[in-house]
Amino acid sequence: MMNTPLTLVSLIERAEKYFPKKEVVSRTSSGVHRFPYKEIGKRTRSLSSALESLGVKKGDRVGTFAWNHHRHLEAYFAVPAMGAVLHMLNIRLSAEHLSYIINHAEDKVLLIDSDLLPLVEKIKDQLSTVEAFIVMTDEEALPESSLEALYSYEKLLEKADESYEFSHDIKEDDPAGMCYTSGTTGKPKGVVYSHRGLVLHSMALSLADTAAVSESDVCMPVVPMFHANAWGVPYAATWTGATQVLPGPMPTPKILAELIESEKVTTTAGVPTIWLGLLKELEQNSYNLDSLRAVLCGGSAAPKGMIRTFEEKYGIPFIHAYGMTETTPLVIISRLKSYQMELPYEDKLEIRSKQGIVVQGIDIKVINENGEVKPDGKEMGELLVRGPWIADSYYNDDRSSEAFHDGWLHTGDVVTIDEEGFVKIVDRTKDLIKSGGEWISSVDLENALMAHESVFEAAVISVPDPKWQERPVACVVMKDAYKDTVSKEDLLDFLAPQFAKWWLPDDVLFMDDIPKTSVGKFLKSALREKVREQYTP
Ligand code: ADP
Repeated sequence: MMNTPLTLVSLIERAEKYFPKKEVVSRTSSGVHRFPYKEIGKRTRSLSSALESLGVKKGDRVGTFAWNHHRHLEAYFAVPAMGAVLHMLNIRLSAEHLSYIINHAEDKVLLIDSDLLPLVEKIKDQLSTVEAFIVMTDEEALPESSLEALYSYEKLLEKADESYEFSHDIKEDDPAGMCYTSGTTGKPKGVVYSHRGLVLHSMALSLADTAAVSESDVCMPVVPMFHANAWGVPYAATWTGATQVLPGPMPTPKILAELIESEKVTTTAGVPTIWLGLLKELEQNSYNLDSLRAVLCGGSAAPKGMIRTFEEKYGIPFIHAYGMTETTPLVIISRLKSYQMELPYEDKLEIRSKQGIVVQGIDIKVINENGEVKPDGKEMGELLVRGPWIADSYYNDDRSSEAFHDGWLHTGDVVTIDEEGFVKIVDRTKDLIKSGGEWISSVDLENALMAHESVFEAAVISVPDPKWQERPVACVVMKDAYKDTVSKEDLLDFLAPQFAKWWLPDDVLFMDDIPKTSVGKFLKSALREKVREQYTP
């Protein structure tokens, strides 16, 4: 067989050649703009050419500090297609972590959204490698700034060569992108994505039994483009010629609902907190969301109650999936097997609220201290993953061997796997609650609580206990309409029939909100600190 390299160049060239009229719809601070792929292709080539004129060479890192919009999409291709490496910077990192990762990756150029410029200005004296700052805006809108070697994106593009030839000197194992884990403990760790990994991952996203991204789709990644390649959606959507809707800065639930309705979005992707927010919006205002064929949800466990509400109340199909920054990210996706379709809805929901079956091309296994776990859906172990889009180390980091050894990525996620191969994430190792020598899954308790009609969000954490070592405590945010109408006892009575007695939380604390990570997951480390401080058992 021919050994043609799998590189991102072929993805953008296919969109230019075969889908020049299909559109990228981009919400920016100046309104909603539409760019056909023909235009996106030219602008992408111009960006590569502009970066080259600024001295960017093969292998150099170019950082993006931006929301989801067409310019970010152009950078997604322009940087790797000239042989450089796209470093997606998480806009919600602390100043300390941000300067750490820019210096650690040795970013040469930064592409920055104008509203985010102050965050970069704050750390400019710490940056040791950046030679140019490009603000993703017009020349007229270029803000006053203390940054030196400051350019406007549109001005650079105007002067650049829109017929720039993408590099054909790229090997498929060359780095194309990189992302750092959000680093809730310790410094963030860098993951480098190869061209090959990203291309194969894009192909995997397009398979009928995974996300089935196709030309007829209108894809709206809500998951940020600074987080794990927006789960690969922009790459797969461009390759297949799907329409893309990029929701821009600060996308509120209202903005998302309006975009789904007006653009007839078919597929969208995001973490559970996004979808809880959307459900809240749908309760208050009515929208026609009939176009949706899939809401993809991952990043943390999708509560069963939420899946049910999407499907039963709004008729919106929901797909649960699992992955990590280290895995590009898709590893596991929850789709019923054909013979499971006949099961009663409750049984199907039970299966589909698990994270699902491993996607084609990836291997998994589950191990405990004694070796491999046999699939029975009960015994727990750590999930191990390997495959062509799984990282094999952290970038220049001596912590690599903590997660990568024996040819596997050790995920730090505790799971069960049933006879049908469905994986259920029981917890992150560090969030499991050990009570009297037995494990309690915080995720199971949270999901059960979030199925109560009055509960908006629930996070369960451990508190130290002199007798049992650790005990669970639930932190609950009520829906506005139910505030002060439901007591701790009501919630515990609701949980009681569903769990063994010793699983039930020792306390329920009502809160106004639950601290979140930079990508919208419950920040349990902060919650534990907060609660342990004030909590006296
Ligand atoms: P961070 O470590 O910053 O949260 P990642 O996005 O890489 O960044 O997080 C990956 C982790 O998110 C996984 O190891 C797992 O614990 C959790 N996760 C991802 N998807 C799911 C899911 N569908 N259900 C439960 N947990 C999930």
